[in-house]
Amino acid sequence: MKLHYLGTAAAEGWPAMFCDCINCQRAREAKGKNYRSRPQMLIDKKLLVDFGPDTFYHMMKYDLDFSGIRHVILTHSHTDHFYSTELILRAFPYALHGNQGKMTVYGNEKCHWMFLRTLEVEDDSANMRDCVGFEEIRAFVPFEIPGYHITPLHAVHDPKEECLIYLIRDEEGKTLLYANDTGVFPEDTWQALEGIKLDCVSLDCTLGKDPTMESGHMGLQANRSVVEKLKKMDCIDDRTPVVLTHFSHNGGLLHEELEDATRKDDFLIAYDGMVLEF
Ligand SMILES: [Zn+2]
Ligand SMILES: [Zn+2]
Ligand SMILES: [Zn+2]
Repeated sequence: MKLHYLGTAAAEGWPAMFCDCINCQRAREAKGKNYRSRPQMLIDKKLLVDFGPDTFYHMMKYDLDFSGIRHVILTHSHTDHFYSTELILRAFPYALHGNQGKMTVYGNEKCHWMFLRTLEVEDDSANMRDCVGFEEIRAFVPFEIPGYHITPLHAVHDPKEECLIYLIRDEEGKTLLYANDTGVFPEDTWQALEGIKLDCVSLDCTLGKDPTMESGHMGLQANRSVVEKLKKMDCIDDRTPVVLTHFSHNGGLLHEELEDATRKDDFLIAYDGMVLEF
């Protein structure tokens, strides 16, 4: 499975558009890996995870062609993860051949509501219904798309909707745990992970050096406790790649500082454009 981290920031991006805090100023000076766009992942060049406001920018920046994308899975409805309005671009006249292969978006009830709102209120295309479909999904109800077996799990994030993280297994049996946005997992998700062998783990690190443990996001301390528990459960071992992503100015650590702070942990610190194959 080949992971392409297209964007690795939280909602506001980093440097944040309207922010002049010390961490945004430091990121502006350091540039490089400290310029982070809104979160999105491309798996094996064909499965998109999340559809945020930087999707178009990602297509240009990494020289990608999204016209062949048939499946998009959404974690939740927050603006950095789902910019429903731009789904109209999949239809005529924004895309000329969108009706020749429908793209299906999978997401929770709130995302479904937003999709329907786009169809009813925002859609000014000729044929969006022929070009984009929506499947409502629920935690712990697995579904199949060509090449993948996907199990949504509960996140701890926003109580106003069922936020999801994902177990994604490909045809070779390689399994990814994709876990943002979330705090330390809830009990039902731990139970679902029982007996599952993971080949890669990708974790929310929005809070960086902030030691807050009870939150809808994680920082390094929470990341360490999740990894420790996954090892105890034999889901992973010392060689399993663990990637941290979804960073924010509120976490306070620039890319190199994150690397320094996690040298003993052997975590991979994601950056925009990072590719990882396992
Ligand atoms: Zn987010
Ligand atoms: Zn800032
Ligand atoms: Zn969120």
